Amino acid sequence: MTEEEARCPICGRICRAEAQFCRYHENAREELERGYKEWSAAMPITWNEYLSRLIEAEETGMWIRDMIEFIMSTDDL
Ligand SMILES: [Zn+2]
Repeated sequence: MTEEEARCPICGRICRAEAQFCRYHENAREELERGYKEWSAAMPITWNEYLSRLIEAEETGMWIRDMIEFIMSTDDL
């Protein structure tokens, strides 16, 4: 028996027990947070506005897009 397997809530890949997401989506979340720090230093923008703009941008990658959709769907926690 192994400990309860942790799975990424976005894609279902198995992830490290201490991680909330698989490594791809962990990376995406880190990129999102880093990007938000840069944007919010340059202009007044809320986290939600930032996410909405990114998801509309064509150059936003697939993993980031997944993460934004996930964050938006769980935002009212
Ligand atoms: Zn994932």
